Order: sequence, then C-alpha cells, then structure tokens
Amino acid sequence: MPSTRLSFRQVVDILAQRYGEPPPPQVTDPFAMIVWENIAYLANDARRAEAFEELRREVGLRPRDILKASDNALLSVTSRGIVPANSVQKLRAAAAIAEEAFAGDLNPVLKKPASAAKKDLRKFPSIGEPAAEKILLFNHKLPVLALESNGLRVLVRLGFSAAKKSYSATYKGMQQALAPQLPSGCAALVRAHQLLRQHGQELCKRTGPICGRCPLRPNCAFFAENVVSSA
Ligand code: SF4
Repeated sequence: MPSTRLSFRQVVDILAQRYGEPPPPQVTDPFAMIVWENIAYLANDARRAEAFEELRREVGLRPRDILKASDNALLSVTSRGIVPANSVQKLRAAAAIAEEAFAGDLNPVLKKPASAAKKDLRKFPSIGEPAAEKILLFNHKLPVLALESNGLRVLVRLGFSAAKKSYSATYKGMQQALAPQLPSGCAALVRAHQLLRQHGQELCKRTGPICGRCPLRPNCAFFAENVVSSA
C-alpha cells in the first residue's frame, strides 16, 4: 500500500480543522481510567459515560467502594455493556488489585520509571501496553503515541505503516514508523490521540468508512487503493 504524502502533524491539524480542538480528557485518574476500560464491555462512549456516572453517584470510584458494593449495584452499572456479569468481576478484580498491591492509590505508580509503571498498570484487567501507555500519557508522565484501535486504524489506512499479524505488532510498528516525526510534548500527543480516535469513530469507521466526507481523502492510501482503483 502506498504511503500518504502528509506528515503526521499535517494529519492532526487537518483533523483539528474538521472536528475542532478536543477538550481535555474527562477521566485521567489512573484507577478511574482502569474502571472506565472495564465498566461496560463493547459499549460506546455515551453508554460508558452513563455507567461511569452511575458508579460515581451510587457506589463511589474508590477501590474500597467497589469492593463493598453489592452485586446488584454493580450489575446495574455494567448492564450498559454486553456480558455485564463479567464486567462486575473485572471491576472487583481491579479494585482488589488496587487495594492489595497499591494500598488503594495508584498515583505513586505514575512517579515510577515508565517501564516499571507500565508493568504495574498491566496487572489490571483489560490493561495491555496501549492502555497502560494511555494512562501515562493522559497524566503527562510519558510522551508516547498511545493509540487505541480507532486511531491506529486511521494511521494504517493513511499508509504510515502497514497492518501486521497481530494488533500488538501493528501498534509497535506504527510507533516506530512515526517516531522521527512525533511531537515531543504530552499535550500534543494527547491532542493527536483524541483527534485520531474521533476520526476513526465518526468517519474512518472499521466497516464502511465514509471517505466521501473525509478531508484526508486526497492523501489516503486506503482510499486510493480501494475506492479510486475500483471506481
Ligand atoms: S479517506 Fe476514508 S479510509 Fe482514508 S482516512 Fe478518510 S475515511 Fe479513512
């Protein structure tokens, strides 16, 4: 697949013109971010936010609040997603790890060297390398291109780096390919994360990307190969 003629910075700026400058992330506390990841499996952002707000209001967001909550209270929260009973187990597991291994406070983890911090964060359910990096980035502790699946898909389609056999290999390959041109500060990387994610959710969808409305179309490798060539 050919690569885009745009730089990473140009892509992000074009997306900012399309969507506007993103507000700061709503959730940045490390345990709250872990809760957010686990609270409602496969739910969209709106449903996830509803669940998060109910948890905050009815149960509390501290690990010990979750540990002492009833199953019914947690099921009411997690029912915004599919297999809500599994999400209850994950919330309880996350709370137990936070209490037992970190005395209920993950903020000291953020002060550790990046590799140690990532190792600690990956002890939690649903937290792999990308999510651990996102927690550190959103807390301005690690200037890294922490992508989630929507943003990674956009960058692959533009042609910055090819999809590989596994998600993890694609993620690493993209970080390596873009390393020479990434901004150095966390704020710019958070902005890029948010705009790429929004683009992947709204136009560059996993199935059926809406290329006709995309400002990146003239420089998109996926569009050139899959839409123009088949026209
Ligand atoms: S042109 Fe289509 S495939 Fe390319 S970035 Fe835009 S929406 Fe995604």
